[in-house]
Amino acid sequence: MTPSPALTRVARGDTCSGCGLCASLGGDAVELATVAPGYIRPRQVATLAPDTEAAIAVTCPGLIVDNCGDAPHDDPLWGRWRITATGHATDAGLRHHASSGGVLSAILDHALASGLVDRVVQTGSDPTRPLANATVVSRSAAEVFAAAGSRYAGSSPLADIVAQLDAPGCLAFVGKPCDVNALRALARIDPRVDAKVPLMLAFFCAGVPSGDGARRILAAIDAPEDQVTAFRYRGDGWPGQATATLADGSTRGMSYHDSWGQILAKEIQFRCKICPDAIGGAADIACADAWYGDAKGYPDFTEQAGRSLVMVRTARGEDIYRAALAAGTIAVEPLDPAAIVRMQPSQVRRKRELIARLAAVAATGRPVPRYSGVRLAAAARQAPLRQHLRSFAGLVRRIVQRRA
Ligand SMILES: Cc1cc2nc3c(=O)[nH]c(=O)nc-3n(C[C@H](O)[C@H](O)[C@H](O)COP(=O)(O)OP(=O)(O)OC[C@H]3O[C@@H](n4cnc5c(N)ncnc54)[C@H](O)[C@@H]3O)c2cc1C
Ligand code: SF4
Ligand code: SF4
Repeated sequence: MTPSPALTRVARGDTCSGCGLCASLGGDAVELATVAPGYIRPRQVATLAPDTEAAIAVTCPGLIVDNCGDAPHDDPLWGRWRITATGHATDAGLRHHASSGGVLSAILDHALASGLVDRVVQTGSDPTRPLANATVVSRSAAEVFAAAGSRYAGSSPLADIVAQLDAPGCLAFVGKPCDVNALRALARIDPRVDAKVPLMLAFFCAGVPSGDGARRILAAIDAPEDQVTAFRYRGDGWPGQATATLADGSTRGMSYHDSWGQILAKEIQFRCKICPDAIGGAADIACADAWYGDAKGYPDFTEQAGRSLVMVRTARGEDIYRAALAAGTIAVEPLDPAAIVRMQPSQVRRKRELIARLAAVAATGRPVPRYSGVRLAAAARQAPLRQHLRSFAGLVRRIVQRRA
């Protein structure tokens, strides 16, 4: 077998996000596997055809992110946008069950009900491994409801995208920003993407934690993994709890503050530390938590009615957003984009420091992915030199320590 140069470069840089696109493009030659400490990675099992190799080289988000597009506004931190708002699903049950305000699911419901698409490719719980994720194809509001909620574990929603494009009908796609980057890149070489995927949604993304992270939550709440029949990372409230349901029907939970802040955030994969587009800049609509800031400027994780931050980025996104609003599926309030800095302080820091982090990757001899259309220099100018130096030194130290 001849090793794929593209996949070899991704592995050398540890820049795989687990999106699954290479497995779909590669057919039988590329499998997906879970590797320690619980990330999804491709495994090449046969030589790739030259056209497959070329397709992976121009679409894999571990190698390239190229966000283009036009919109009336283009912010170095928040990307291109046409409308910014806060809002929620008007269905109170969905708003409660979903991750923040349920806007992503409500827009998907509208896309199905209006006939824009006949199915949604999204991510839900794996029925056989409750901590893990599975790609699901939803065709009804009930199925969209079942898949609502953030799942802080590896997901590969593009692993079957070629089969989805081969099938009749149109689909909406929901994924991590890197998944949408990859799908947009695929659209440049496969015209079926634009014809058959009229709606791409993403959420703001702080990164994918390892499976070991979820197991540490189980250990902390005294929930033996072999007795866990269901696991929700959050939802059922805003932010809701990480909740394990055991075989005897009992539940054990941990607050979002502790599950994300104390455990999962420390377990994210390397690609996420150098992510140029964690705000879903390539999506038609991106949603996030519209956290209220506390007195010190930190997000307030006190339980309250769910509220989503909504960034409408494309003309297609604006059409479905306005239609969902007119149909009463979502309710929104206008938002001054200057307020997003207070809602998403960690995204601000990451974007401003990214050039320094990429410099650290280059300094340690690792391959650096190619990023364009993401305004890294403009974001970097918003931070003082000492912050860049600290970020550079911190990442160099971590890479060297890991290597040792
Ligand atoms: C890995 C991860 C990191 C996140 N980081 C941030 C962050 O930095 N800032 C922030 O504000 N919010 C973050 N979120 C949460 C995100 O804010 C909310 O999902 C978003 O506010 C949308 O809320 P909603 O109620 O509209 O979504 P919902 O209506 O609950 O819909 C969520 C959608 O996301 C899909 N989904 C869930 N988990 C995954 C997954 N692992 N991979 C692909 N698709 C998935 C579901 O299928 C569903 O369609 C993150 C979520 C995840 C899964
Ligand atoms: S980022 Fe996606 S396309 Fe690239 S190697 Fe990983 S799974 Fe494959
Ligand atoms: S942080 Fe970036 S690379 Fe990591 S999962 Fe989220 S979008 Fe993908």
